[in-house]
Amino acid sequence: MSREQTNSRRVAVVGGGVSGLAAAHRLVELDPACRIAVFDPAGRPGGVLSTVHEDGFQVEQSADNFITTFPWGLALCSRLGLQDDVIQTTPQYRRTFVVRRGRLYKLPDGFLMMAPTRMWPMAVTPILSPWGKLRAALEYFIPPRRDEADESMAAFVRRRLGREVFERLVEPLVSAVYAADMERLSLDATLSRFREMEREHGSLIRAMRRAMKSRRHAKESGARYSMFVTLRQGLSSLVGALAARLPQGALRLGTEVRRLERANDAWRLTLAGPGPAEGPPLTETFDAVILAAPSHVSAELLRPVDPEAAADLAAVEHSGTAIVTLAFARDEIAHPLHGMGAVVPAIEQSPILAVSFSSQKYAHRAPDGKVLLRVFVGGARRHELAEMPERKLLPLVLGELRPLLGIGIQAKPCYVNTAHWPRTMPQYHVGHRQRIGRVLARMAALPNLELAGNALEGVGIPNCIHTGELAAERILAAADARIDPKA
Ligand SMILES: Cc1cc2nc3c(=O)[nH]c(=O)nc-3n(C[C@H](O)[C@H](O)[C@H](O)COP(=O)(O)OP(=O)(O)OC[C@H]3O[C@@H](n4cnc5c(N)ncnc54)[C@H](O)[C@@H]3O)c2cc1C
Repeated sequence: MSREQTNSRRVAVVGGGVSGLAAAHRLVELDPACRIAVFDPAGRPGGVLSTVHEDGFQVEQSADNFITTFPWGLALCSRLGLQDDVIQTTPQYRRTFVVRRGRLYKLPDGFLMMAPTRMWPMAVTPILSPWGKLRAALEYFIPPRRDEADESMAAFVRRRLGREVFERLVEPLVSAVYAADMERLSLDATLSRFREMEREHGSLIRAMRRAMKSRRHAKESGARYSMFVTLRQGLSSLVGALAARLPQGALRLGTEVRRLERANDAWRLTLAGPGPAEGPPLTETFDAVILAAPSHVSAELLRPVDPEAAADLAAVEHSGTAIVTLAFARDEIAHPLHGMGAVVPAIEQSPILAVSFSSQKYAHRAPDGKVLLRVFVGGARRHELAEMPERKLLPLVLGELRPLLGIGIQAKPCYVNTAHWPRTMPQYHVGHRQRIGRVLARMAALPNLELAGNALEGVGIPNCIHTGELAAERILAAADARIDPKA
């Protein structure tokens, strides 16, 4: 029997963020006859991805670019015909600043996320004390840990590079990405390549220096900015392109999935809205379901079906952030802004996690003569700030930015946009990989039910896309296996 004969197959995707949309798109790509419904209670697709065009500015309200070392983001853009819209970070600004005692310093050139690749910039940086530098250099000689046990990022970095490098360099860099508590963040589930470097080369410095010899980003610092890209029209254009490839009517916005249950060989979903709230709840039945909502929502849906898997999934905590985007006239800011942005260590006790020089990173985001800044607050460090209203956040943020960037007291932002993202960032705590492994192992016993989303293999957009696409492929492979008696 061919796939064409299976065209009555109905698949539900729960959640219309990038994970769910990538899943739905992959289903259509591989099996155009597949009947798909993507449910999302929001009034627009994309989940946290949201680009706003206002007053000549392009504002990314959450994610603003994605890494290309995982291929799934770029590959999807190409398949959607967006390859000509992919743009790179401004080459001359590929460096990061770090705050030390209320002032901005350049992160040592070649310091990439967790370890130095060049010794001279480390030796002369004013960020570390002479003892801190010596302790970091001793990393070369510290014997590697060879056992398999997971470890927190804080423990790993302190063990290898010392407390100063952790507190003044690594903690702020990693916090800005994961909005997490470093004492609990899992090394294995986030930056496991550093653990592999320790095992294979005995030292991070040795491993990084060997790897860097042949690479072009040895002068960058912070994240590997040459590896990041965005889309000229903003990341919402990826969402739009995905949604446009789905069959008409497939996207069911304003519709929340309230319950999941087994109904003979199928899955029954209980749905809420749009439409009158009275009357019996609406239910629909599907051959297969992909859960691509935030993992705490997927856990609740899973609970009646497999309480054990649900409990494990529900134990994945989430942090939240808020992003305050501000614009100023360029001549109102004294700092040269010759970088991608600045990160703020927890030891500075500042309300802000990081500030991104958004229109330096990607020049098209602000009109000539204007600068767009994105300030991150909240995270595991100050979770209460993630939901603080703009009227309270703005003075707090401006109070930090003025002395840091040299913005005069008279200068007022000519544009402000605040986006709140409570409970959106899964926290990959120590043991996360094993936890997710247990959930997926139990779900493998539930036919035609798959999980996707940012709690599985990484929070970045390419990883989310990958989980969605894999879920779709597994659904179709299972269908093929049942149809083809030889399989
Ligand atoms: C502030 C911020 C900045 C970030 N920056 C970057 C970055 O620069 N680069 C990068 O690669 N990544 C970044 N990320 C991470 C990345 O953007 C996210 O991990 C990714 O977009 C999550 O996609 P998702 O589809 O898994 O989840 P979401 O986007 O959360 O989508 C889940 C969807 O499920 C829906 N839903 C909820 N409940 C139900 C229900 N009961 N029924 C049906 N649907 C439901 C929600 O409405 C939502 O639309 C950032 C994230 C945040 C929050």
